[in-house]
Amino acid sequence: MITFDEALRAVLKQARRQPAGKIPLGESVGCVLAREMKADRNLPPFHRSTMDGYAVRATDVQHSRVTLMVQGTIRPGEALRARLKARHCMKIMTGAPLPPGADAVVMVEDSEAAEKGRVHLCGPVEEWENVARQGEDIRKGHVVLRRGTVINAAANGLLATVGAVSVPVYRPPRAAVLITGEEIVPPGATPRPSEIRDSNSAIIASRLKELPVTLDLLGTSPDNPRALKWLIQQGLKREVVLISGGISMGDYDYVPEVLKKLQARIIVHRVAIKPGRPFLFARGPKGQYVFGLPGNPVSVLVCMEEFVIPALRKILGYEACVPKVWRAVLTAPYSKPGDRMHFALAHLWWRQERLYAVPVASHGSGDLVSATRANGVILVPRRTRKLARGRPVRAHFFGGAGLLSALQKTAR
Ligand code: AMP
Ligand code: MG
Repeated sequence: MITFDEALRAVLKQARRQPAGKIPLGESVGCVLAREMKADRNLPPFHRSTMDGYAVRATDVQHSRVTLMVQGTIRPGEALRARLKARHCMKIMTGAPLPPGADAVVMVEDSEAAEKGRVHLCGPVEEWENVARQGEDIRKGHVVLRRGTVINAAANGLLATVGAVSVPVYRPPRAAVLITGEEIVPPGATPRPSEIRDSNSAIIASRLKELPVTLDLLGTSPDNPRALKWLIQQGLKREVVLISGGISMGDYDYVPEVLKKLQARIIVHRVAIKPGRPFLFARGPKGQYVFGLPGNPVSVLVCMEEFVIPALRKILGYEACVPKVWRAVLTAPYSKPGDRMHFALAHLWWRQERLYAVPVASHGSGDLVSATRANGVILVPRRTRKLARGRPVRAHFFGGAGLLSALQKTAR
């Protein structure tokens, strides 16, 4: 059986960046820019007031108290062509363009209305005080976002600012989720005593929320090769296929054989890890990425985190694909039999700049109840047998929602 590192390397070696294409601005968060983006105008586009107050010539406000004539009022969106006269000021609102001739703003708090259309202002004011100058953030034609940038909320806002309504990115893939198992019924069903509700579709879909991958849930196949073949064929119409269950050594685990019949090339099958030993990775006849996840929900959770998400990040064009590993202090002893690497469910929490890892007691890879208390895993090496309390260990967080729980001692 291959080790975790070997398996991950094999998966990432296969995972290739998607071709570039344009997608709507609103769908681009989490995608990676396939080319650099330039500013189509100066930012700010004009000398902009950052305060409500009075636009002035700084030379007119060089004393602690001056009185100027009010020449008019400028609202945001209003382009005044009139020049500011000497010894005058104009009332101005935040975001409005300075009138020609003005080079500073005195904020309204430093003003006091006077009679006959005048105003008293407290000075002195410096040139360009309370003004965001034209082009100070970026100049027209300069690069605002580099190729390879992961589009976050700020980048998405900046793309909107430069008018990029259709964004060149590495095209997000479509993924299909296939569930296998006679015993599996949808969450809305009333299961018979021997049946189980499908939790894996929910786990997979939740975990993929953070990536811009389009997900089609294709439903459940009974454990027979014909039905399975048909469903996998449907899945193979997408670039990525995620299959839950049916990859172990049981009599009804037909996924590997069906994949072979469909001309898929199996690259990884069975890895020396716990949970997740039966994990499978294959390439379909057209290069589709096929992930076989063991049916147990905790295995799905771990295999998503350790294999599927890193591979998808690479496919999307991310430079950083694997989770960031931290050193943590183990708060309770941990022992493991056998020589598989363990992903031990843990609650990780920060206290005074130190990360603590509390192992979560679990009944195994079917125990989703205890898994809800974990926000990450401790990486226990293959050959380690026992870890004493207080030992430094390597650990990483699960991605997605729930990261704030790293600030509290126990999971809610
Ligand atoms: P398998 O990998 O198909 O042998 O399944 C291993 C275990 O996971 C069995 O106990 C299944 O009942 C359970 N299981 C498989 N698929 C699901 C699912 N979609 N939701 C919940 N449990 C599942
Ligand atoms: Mg099964």
